[in-house]
Amino acid sequence: MDVKSPYLHPEYETLSREEICKLQTERLRETMQRCMKVPFYAQKFKEAGVTPDDIKSPDDVRRLPFTTKQDLRDTYPFGLAAVPLSECVRLHSSSGTTGNPTVILHTQRDLDEWANQVARNLWMVGLRPDDVFQNSSGYGMFTGGLGFQYGAERLGMLTVPAAAGNSLRQIKFMKDFGTTAVHAVPSYLTRLYEVMQEQGVDPRKDTKLRVFAIGAEPHSEEQRQRIEKMFGVKAYNSFGMSEMCGPGVGFECQEQNGLHFWEDYYIVEIVDPETLEPVPDGEIGELVLTSLRREAMPLIRYRTRDLTRVLGRTCPCGRNHVRLDRMKGRSDDMMVLRGVNIFPIQIEKILMQFTELASNYLITLTTDNDNDNMTVEVEIADMFTDDYKRLQELTKSVTRALKDEILLTPIVKLVPKGTLPVSEGKAVRVVDKRKVYQ
Ligand code: AMP
Ligand code: ZN
Repeated sequence: MDVKSPYLHPEYETLSREEICKLQTERLRETMQRCMKVPFYAQKFKEAGVTPDDIKSPDDVRRLPFTTKQDLRDTYPFGLAAVPLSECVRLHSSSGTTGNPTVILHTQRDLDEWANQVARNLWMVGLRPDDVFQNSSGYGMFTGGLGFQYGAERLGMLTVPAAAGNSLRQIKFMKDFGTTAVHAVPSYLTRLYEVMQEQGVDPRKDTKLRVFAIGAEPHSEEQRQRIEKMFGVKAYNSFGMSEMCGPGVGFECQEQNGLHFWEDYYIVEIVDPETLEPVPDGEIGELVLTSLRREAMPLIRYRTRDLTRVLGRTCPCGRNHVRLDRMKGRSDDMMVLRGVNIFPIQIEKILMQFTELASNYLITLTTDNDNDNMTVEVEIADMFTDDYKRLQELTKSVTRALKDEILLTPIVKLVPKGTLPVSEGKAVRVVDKRKVYQ
């Protein structure tokens, strides 16, 4: 490890586009070989009439079938394993809000490479072995716990598995252990800041914090900037998903100009979710990922349901790995209200522009007198809850700003700080109580 190098894996991080394509071609062939041991894929490759030898460039991935979450459910629990279970050493499972949960298997090599990926990201944002890393995310089945734990250890940092919640203890650890970096979901960090304020702790003076890794849930640029201003700490967007290993799939570099998705590990496609055809760079579509190194459960053209776009394929940081925009949301998060498509992140973006508002909010959809309505409850930052006139004016301005963004007039309710529910894991931003007409 050369602590002065900006790269942890220069041999992969600084590949040219040509070299990336060559490596991806080789690795896609190897991945297909591994997939041939899975009856599900063997059958699909046969139907498509494609063998590993037909792969001449990464674009040939388009000749292969897609894989969906439903396929993972249908083959639950071990139907997509490409190695005998005796070679697997870890299983993660997503809760699965509908139907069967999904299972992801890992060999020891999968875990080692996952740790390398996470370490690479943390190194990229300037962390080094003398940093102290506090992982304030849930442990257990949620991959943000163990994923960051092993990655931070691999980098050589003193790593504190604080897990989520218990804010007073989190703050004490940060102060006592000299924590310099924290990983957490963004909604939890804004809550943590409020607790710091209540406790009279000034993160700038009383802690050594300098880097945050925030991710696992959609958040707006405005939310990120707010977090950075609150703490005086740089916050880097971290993208991951259990199906691809967990955290480490994509991460922002110090330029903060989008997420570098690691093309030595994945083939990245952005497709139109309706036609499944590729969309041009710059246009929003569904992210589709093919894993290139996973042994236990390689996935071909996995439809993530996450919506994003390509921002570029070069970067001043010297990494040519494709840069993707922050996720706009998942196609399943999209609310359709009176025929208008709305993403929660659009609401968040507007709310975060009002300094009078705190960071916690909740969107509730209801049917009243056969009309669908949206209520946006948001906590107020300032202590002027009894200044009725000011509250009324603020409510009006927020309503107007939201209307300009979503083209519908929501019911805005300003509520005192601490009244809306806070989750320790991914935030629940939308409650849909609408009547379903059959
Ligand atoms: P899971 O594998 O259950 O932890 O969930 C993975 C999903 O979390 C992804 O498909 C995204 O929808 C979401 N996600 C993870 N990281 C981010 C991020 N940085 N920004 C937006 N959404 C994210
Ligand atoms: Zn970069």
